[in-house]
Amino acid sequence: MVCDTYYRENQTLTERKREILSTMQVIEKLVASQRVKPIVDRTTGAVTFAQLSAIDRNGLTDACIYRRILATGSAAAKIALQRAEQAAGRTVNRQALAAGIHSHDGGKSWGSH
Ligand SMILES: [Zn+2]
Repeated sequence: MVCDTYYRENQTLTERKREILSTMQVIEKLVASQRVKPIVDRTTGAVTFAQLSAIDRNGLTDACIYRRILATGSAAAKIALQRAEQAAGRTVNRQALAAGIHSHDGGKSWGSH
């Protein structure tokens, strides 16, 4: 899974998994409290998380964050995702996520670079 590909030097898989869990707890709270906003691309259905700092993100991709919120997120975080879909007038497209489409500018531009 995309989440597990990012390691620090000398970091074991177990350590990274634990780090992902604690990172997701922080991100999920930011999304639930609307300090970080999920944004869905009208064209492709890709998703990004605007105003998420690099430190809070800690190497997790947008696709990874999205999947984890759907799988284990709080109701408030899931509602934030639904609001983003409503704002875009479409649902998130998992094929766009699998293709690696993402944004570096809070949803203004999108690409798979
Ligand atoms: Zn990129």
